[in-house]
Amino acid sequence: MTSEVDVIVIGSGFGGAISASRIAEAGFKVRVLERGPWRDSIPNASQDIPNRVPFPTEGWHFWTKAVRTLRNNKLPGGRITLNKKGFYEVLIGKGLNILCSSNVGGGSHAYGGLNMPPPMPGYWDDIDSGLSEDRMAGHYAEVMKRMGASTPSDEHIPQSIRKRFSHSDAIHSGPEAGALQMGFLFPEEPGQPREITTEDGVRRREIGCGEGGFLGSPDGAKTPLEVAYLYRAMQQGLEICDQQEVLAIRKETKAGETRYCVNVENHHTGQFESHYAKHVIVAAGTVNTLHLLLHSRDGDKGLGGMPQLGKKFGSNGDYFAYWDWQDRFHDMSQSLPVNGYVRLKGETEAAEVDQPFIIEAPLPCPDKLRLPGWVAKKLRQGTFIAGMGKDAMDGTVSLKKGKLNVDYKPENSSIFGEIREQMDRIAEKTGKRILSIKRPTTAHPLGGACIGRNIDEGVVDGKGEVFDHPGLYVADAAALPKPVEGPPSMTVAAWANHVGEQVIMKLRRENSDSFRQPLLLQELSEKQLIERDEIG
Ligand SMILES: Cc1cc2nc3c(=O)[nH]c(=O)nc-3n(C[C@H](O)[C@H](O)[C@H](O)COP(=O)(O)OP(=O)(O)OC[C@H]3O[C@@H](n4cnc5c(N)ncnc54)[C@H](O)[C@@H]3O)c2cc1C
Repeated sequence: MTSEVDVIVIGSGFGGAISASRIAEAGFKVRVLERGPWRDSIPNASQDIPNRVPFPTEGWHFWTKAVRTLRNNKLPGGRITLNKKGFYEVLIGKGLNILCSSNVGGGSHAYGGLNMPPPMPGYWDDIDSGLSEDRMAGHYAEVMKRMGASTPSDEHIPQSIRKRFSHSDAIHSGPEAGALQMGFLFPEEPGQPREITTEDGVRRREIGCGEGGFLGSPDGAKTPLEVAYLYRAMQQGLEICDQQEVLAIRKETKAGETRYCVNVENHHTGQFESHYAKHVIVAAGTVNTLHLLLHSRDGDKGLGGMPQLGKKFGSNGDYFAYWDWQDRFHDMSQSLPVNGYVRLKGETEAAEVDQPFIIEAPLPCPDKLRLPGWVAKKLRQGTFIAGMGKDAMDGTVSLKKGKLNVDYKPENSSIFGEIREQMDRIAEKTGKRILSIKRPTTAHPLGGACIGRNIDEGVVDGKGEVFDHPGLYVADAAALPKPVEGPPSMTVAAWANHVGEQVIMKLRRENSDSFRQPLLLQELSEKQLIERDEIG
């Protein structure tokens, strides 16, 4: 297990699973180290994956497995781990609460399944000379195809905003309100989900009402990264080591050659182990990637440099609230995790365009969770509502006395006021209260190890490689230098696809590789790209 491989990837969420799979599919030896367990899903069972751990979607599993770790500076050591096989990590930082998850497949189990590029065009322009919107477009197309992103009809979303507001003067309900693209297996006949077996022998169930939510999708209806990427890459040699928590990375230079030693706590055995590779991709999710790099530099002293590490950290302007429908006639939890965009009809065209990105998101299946009756009732009779947008991205993440210190000042970002005002208007127009706490909570932390043009501007270059650490890469949301202003998973996925390709090209150059693989996006000419898209 501790033998040297071409590439070690830390984390198996969108950043890790996609970069690792791309490199393994190109014929290189890749090992993924993931702290979370394989989940007990129908697809994982169909592939005979051992050591599967239940999702927290039912009964007491909700109470024992919903939370893995709580992080706060007032806790001894800065965190308390409740259950190493738990699903969510919750960080209460200064000015910001943060949610992230822990599984083989990372955030693809926790997320709402919205698959979309940034809502504002031009995200990748002006970041680094090697990156542009045009270059990244191919990566978005590729990852969205593999995630199976498709647009559901309103019949697939029982509590769809478009259906509910079809006669509303206040809320948009027409196609101009925007069609959702989602990574779910939708039933051919809405409301009649079937179990299917794919050509690769993977069993899944189509999505039913109130399933596939923020606590995971045991039936595999919400496409997890295992189905979209990992199984196929595993057949080509990708090694996935579950329940292996990376503690530190050390750079070792011998006779002019650099390699990295990755120290791990193996939660299966309780032992500490070391893995070695010349190329390491860090993709532990923003908070854990920053913690790992900061600890490796400032605590363990195994890495140096990175003067911009922990700077330009942002929340993507996320702001959550509860929309108190008090609907006694419909069960709002019997829907998809996202019901649609909430856009007000404005008096002028400009007022309509210039609105924060807001979605409605019910929590499916509260009745299965053994919650107090009044909480389950609130979740059945109401929904969550979430806004996203451009924050100042001026937070900092640092290590103080060994504890992770997140310092974020929401008052510096006008977006939170704009979202709150918009939610007040929505509440007024619909006559249903929207309740929130002032401190924002983000499910989309970004940045802190940002892409930049040079070491004074960022931590990684346009290829994802850390400026002063050859062979060390960041392929997850920590590298994103701007707020996505919408759901970010496809932007992380496209970035990881790009980083994976850069690593493949480097490995091929280093190995003076003679075997030709299918051409990579970066190597295709414009003409070849058009031909490939026409064929594909
Ligand atoms: C409730 C919720 C709903 C969301 N809904 C949407 C949505 O609808 N659409 C959308 O686009 N985005 C959504 N997101 C955001 C999306 O999930 C993230 O943007 C995405 O997962 C980030 O990818 P990542 O690779 O950076 O990190 P992750 O996907 O979080 O993966 C990081 C992985 O690294 C592992 N890890 C952490 N530390 C270590 C360590 N020390 N050693 C080994 N492994 C480690 C973690 O266990 C995890 O599996 C949602 C997120 C949440 C929490």
